Formats: sequence, structure tokens, C-alpha cells
Amino acid sequence: MPCLSCNNSQPEYSFRVLEVHTLHIRDFSGERLVQALGETRTFEVCAACVSSEMRAVFYPAGRILRKCSGFVMLLLAGLGLTLTVSLNPEMMNALRLIGPLAVFVGVSGTIGKVREILAQRKVLAGMSEQEARKSSAWQCVLKDAPKKYNDNDITYLPIDDALKFTPEELAVKYCLLSPISRKAYEVIRSNIYE
Ligand SMILES: [Zn+2]
Repeated sequence: MPCLSCNNSQPEYSFRVLEVHTLHIRDFSGERLVQALGETRTFEVCAACVSSEMRAVFYPAGRILRKCSGFVMLLLAGLGLTLTVSLNPEMMNALRLIGPLAVFVGVSGTIGKVREILAQRKVLAGMSEQEARKSSAWQCVLKDAPKKYNDNDITYLPIDDALKFTPEELAVKYCLLSPISRKAYEVIRSNIYE
């Protein structure tokens, strides 16, 4: 099986996963989830993609720029609007709020993203080389595996790791309804011991 991220034919890491499909239904009573188990699949990732994912985490400038660009644009638009409104006192009062609000959302969004990216780097830096490579390979899977099945969101449960947890812990970790998490646990157990 080729590398999930780049189609290289010599992958280094292999992950067996069980899919869970989640449909969000919004009706008059609010939002509820409908979940079902999907297929079991195998995803493989090559050494080059793992190294490039690790570089992106340890030298995060590029990732920070990419993930924060929307917030920075919002911030600049907010500053522009605030300036325009302050130079044109006849403009509507409602507009006076939008500029500072956009600046606030832009700043807090940027700070949140930067923190998230740096936290990921700290976690990886605390691991052994081998663990860090495996964890980066799993990040490649999460980044490049399909995220939707029709209208359903797909969650991937890593089969080889899942039995470290009880069905209740799996439910919390992967946002599963408890009947689904018990069913997933059984399917994973039979996959491992069959
Ligand atoms: Zn690859």
C-alpha cells in the first residue's frame, strides 16, 4: 500500500484504524448525534512525510503563518474599519463596534493558534525520537485521511492503541456515544485477537 500523504511506494509506518461515522442532526430540540461504526482500514505513511511533518512542528514559522493568516487579515480589516469610522464621524454607530470586535477576534484567534502549534512542539520535544516519529506519522494520517463520508464526519480509532483504554475512556477521548464506544471496543478486540 502506498504512502497516504505522497503515494511513495515504500511506507515506513502502518496504522490500522476503525472508522466511526458521526452525523450532526439539528432540529427543534437542539443538536443530536447519530453515530455508526464504519470500515476498518490500514493507512501507511513514508519516512519522508514523517520527517517533513516533524520539521513543520519543530520549525513552525510556516505553519503559524498559514494557520493564522485568516485571523491576521481579520485583524487588519478591523483596524482599517476602525480608522475609517473614526475619520468619518457621520458613519453609523453600529459600524463603530464591528472594527474593534474584528480586531479582538483576530488577536485572540492568532494567539490561540500560535499556542496550539507551540504546545504540539513541546509534546513532541518531550518524546524519544522513535515515539516522536510515530506520533508525527499519526498526525499525517489525521491530516490526509478522508474527513467525510457523505454528510458524516469520520473519526479514526487507532486499533493497536485503543485497547489501552476502557470503553468509557474511549467514549470521552473520541467523543463517542457510549453504545458505539462499547461496540467499537468489541470490534477492535476481535480484530486484534482474531
Ligand atoms: Zn509519503
